[in-house]
Amino acid sequence: MITFCSLFSGSSGNAIYIASGNAKILIDCGVSGKRIAASLASIDVDASQIDAILVTHEHRDHTHAIGIMSRRYNIPIYANENTWTGMENEIGNIKPDNKRYFNTHEDFCIRDICIHPFSIPHDAAEPVGYNFYIDNTKITLATDIGHVNAELTSYLEGSQMILIESNHDTEMLKCGSYPYYLKQRILGARGHLSNEAAGELAAHLATKGTTRFLLGHLSKENNFPQLAYQTVYNALESRKIKVGKDVLLDVAERETRSKVYNL
Ligand SMILES: [Zn+2]
Ligand SMILES: [Zn+2]
Repeated sequence: MITFCSLFSGSSGNAIYIASGNAKILIDCGVSGKRIAASLASIDVDASQIDAILVTHEHRDHTHAIGIMSRRYNIPIYANENTWTGMENEIGNIKPDNKRYFNTHEDFCIRDICIHPFSIPHDAAEPVGYNFYIDNTKITLATDIGHVNAELTSYLEGSQMILIESNHDTEMLKCGSYPYYLKQRILGARGHLSNEAAGELAAHLATKGTTRFLLGHLSKENNFPQLAYQTVYNALESRKIKVGKDVLLDVAERETRSKVYNL
């Protein structure tokens, strides 16, 4: 059995939990260690039971409490070399034994969870998304993606469940108060994925076996949960994919955890 839960998701901080019967993993620690531990406790997980922390990339909304969690609970951190270089000065001293390296596109396992890190188009040193394989189930985490291309799509297809980015409503972003350079960054090919693009992607993935969609990494300024949901809902329904019947669609909240998905 697999347990999946988004503890925090959004441009102000991310932490995702996935577990099998034998392994418990956190992906990113972008809010305080206290809040992550409390969120884990709310699903009956003690932070000291975590076997590994995986890092997607070195931006602070993903790494804020990485070092604290590792030191406090003696948890190994897994990241590729460029991400380590990018975050090392920010996260404080890590025990040599807890510094673990992987190569992007090379599989590794944490007990019975096999992990495939794949590259994503985003303005960080070497950002990755993750496929998790447990028994015959594939679950994918893909946020902080500037645009969708064929290579990225190939890593997402065949996932039974996926957490995909639905960062902003393009019109809200364009009309909003962000400075020009920031708007250009978010809209750029290595920025963040819009609700509209998430909808197109979800509609495609639904034809490739995905039945559960969790929308995440929503912008605080340029999105609303209901708007992200409705945009993706419309994209699915316009392809005759029935939400609630063919697929499940949820939005991961920024400050509170999602429900616990058991697959
Ligand atoms: Zn980022
Ligand atoms: Zn981010």
